[in-house]
Amino acid sequence: MSDIKQVYDNIIERMADAAKRSGRPADTVRLLAVSKKQSTQAIQALAALGQLDFGESTIQEAQHKIPQYPNLTWHCIGHLQSNKTKYVPGLFDWVHSVDSEKLVDRIAHAARAQDKPVNILLQVNTAGDPAKYGMSPDRLFQAAETLLEKAYSHVILKGLMTIGLRSTGVDNTRSTFAALRRLSEKAGEEFGKEYFSELSMGMSHDFEIAIEEGATMVRIGTALFGERTSG
Ligand SMILES: *Cc1c(COP(=O)(O)O)cnc(C)c1O
Repeated sequence: MSDIKQVYDNIIERMADAAKRSGRPADTVRLLAVSKKQSTQAIQALAALGQLDFGESTIQEAQHKIPQYPNLTWHCIGHLQSNKTKYVPGLFDWVHSVDSEKLVDRIAHAARAQDKPVNILLQVNTAGDPAKYGMSPDRLFQAAETLLEKAYSHVILKGLMTIGLRSTGVDNTRSTFAALRRLSEKAGEEFGKEYFSELSMGMSHDFEIAIEEGATMVRIGTALFGERTSG
């Protein structure tokens, strides 16, 4: 078994180097440890090293794990079914995978009823990959306008999220990340920079490229914890 501290320190160092290459201080990029299908012992070990932000993909797994760690910050990164949105405010501080206005409406309703604010990111399918969730870049502006007009009391728009192309090489991956950054800059000019300050992009295999292209949050699972195992 690899030493978790060594692995963790190595990831933090690679993040800092990539931030430097993008001309930013290391503390402008937040590490989100993706603990889906990883044991609670692994979460505990990382939390003991000072890791604060964790990501989970499903409500079912989140309901089992998150209540054990109320002092950590939890991010929902998986596709959300609208009938599960009522569980979001009690579990998650952030939702990265918002892909429709209807979903925002439902999260907002639940968040208000429970008086628990939720930060959201709009997921954009920058790769135009039909196998992935997320709204098309064209729809993003309409969605942002609609949701900002509604001025939800308990939903806070913070930025954008995307999943990089996996199989088509570094240049394409880089261009999908750069595309998200340009969209975010454009949306920031149109609607206000405060709503588009976060860019969630980059995973185990491509987080350095994402940081070079402006990521403020990277979502790293297997490179931190090893292969996913338990449910
Ligand atoms: C699982 C997952 C990750 C983490 O993937 P790794 O390759 O294990 O780093 C990041 N983002 C999303 C949306 C995921 O579903």
